[in-house]
Amino acid sequence: MKNERRRVLKWAAVSGVAWLLAGCKQGPRPPVPGKPTVYLTTDDGPLRGSEYIDAAVREYEVPMTAFVVGKHARTLAFRARLEAYRNNPHIRLGNHSYTHADGHYLDYYRHPQRVLRDFEHNQRALGLSEKIGRLPGRDSWRFGSRAYDADPTARAAADLLARNGYRLYGWDLEWTHTQSGAPIGSAEQIHQKIIHQLAKGHCFTPGHLVLLMHDQMFRSRAAVAELYRLLSLLKEDQAIRLRYIDDYPLTAPPLVLKKGTAPRLIKAPVTGIGESTPVDPLKFGR
Ligand SMILES: [Zn+2]
Repeated sequence: MKNERRRVLKWAAVSGVAWLLAGCKQGPRPPVPGKPTVYLTTDDGPLRGSEYIDAAVREYEVPMTAFVVGKHARTLAFRARLEAYRNNPHIRLGNHSYTHADGHYLDYYRHPQRVLRDFEHNQRALGLSEKIGRLPGRDSWRFGSRAYDADPTARAAADLLARNGYRLYGWDLEWTHTQSGAPIGSAEQIHQKIIHQLAKGHCFTPGHLVLLMHDQMFRSRAAVAELYRLLSLLKEDQAIRLRYIDDYPLTAPPLVLKKGTAPRLIKAPVTGIGESTPVDPLKFGR
């Protein structure tokens, strides 16, 4: 166990986490090799709000992965938003299922074969080439030999998707929203949370933070301004680098666990409406 911990610490030091821990206070930050990495992701598009994400990402030229829902692309207006994503050189698409479980997650995950069919349908309907996915309503991870389920109800479905070639990505930090869809917390606060969570190593892979946002959060002028502000803060922050989710490292040291304990990731407290709230995202996207 001691050797394992030493290996993890050594790896963390190499990836720059230890440096970030020391540099979290004010002051100039020297450049370091292997900077902590942030992966911007947005779920549930195309919806109202996607057009502003598309414009913001074009302006700041930051890598973003959009996990998209085929059912939302059935109208011409939403289909156009999806095509804008597809034509955006800074956005890559991932599979977030065709139906988004219609908001009924528990029933959905009781039928793993149905979940697989739903993802396969989405692949075909949206012409997705890579099998990169995120489960609707569930924070589950699958790639290589690594697996994690924040909620065990999704385990069988996640395993089945993995056996069928999907890499699944959960998230480390979520920018949640209110009942009316407004982001909770300012861009500055989210930026600070990212820096501190990276410094604490509270990520599925230390030094690598996946941020989850939702397309439907960015419909008002004030919310869109916060999105622009966050992208600006992240782009200007020399202590981190931004990457697409398919650049996420597929191997990492094993989590250090006490004997007999299940893996449990420490994350920022969740407030408001988020991905695992059992509700159809269309409710927020009209
Ligand atoms: Zn979702």
